[in-house]
Amino acid sequence: MVVAAYEAAAGWPLVASRRAVLREQAQAVLATGRPVEWVAARAAEMPAKNWTDLLVHCQKSPVPVPGAASPAAAPFRRENCPLPGHGAFPADACSECEVDAIRRETRRVDFDPQALIRQMRKKTADAAAARRGR
Ligand SMILES: [Zn+2]
Repeated sequence: MVVAAYEAAAGWPLVASRRAVLREQAQAVLATGRPVEWVAARAAEMPAKNWTDLLVHCQKSPVPVPGAASPAAAPFRRENCPLPGHGAFPADACSECEVDAIRRETRRVDFDPQALIRQMRKKTADAAAARRGR
């Protein structure tokens, strides 16, 4: 239903891989107890805005979830982490998410010295090979 809503809004069918991702994200959101109609409506909003991540969209959507206490009661609070393969409780204390955040952080700040050395060695080897070739 969620995928169908997305495709109807987009006006074309998704490729199989994208459909699988969207379905997985939809299942993760639905696992948090949001009504399928609400999730489908969010999915239908995505193509027009070129959005691809249903999880992020549902988390940030200002549209109130029917049956939820109030919009201020943060959507994913006191629930399992909705990301595939996480499922930690509560969501804001998910160690997997923490690890992901640290990975993203280090990837940005750090560079790989080994990779740099490999790259330099290759350059030297290529130069030597070029000299031998002539
Ligand atoms: Zn997580």
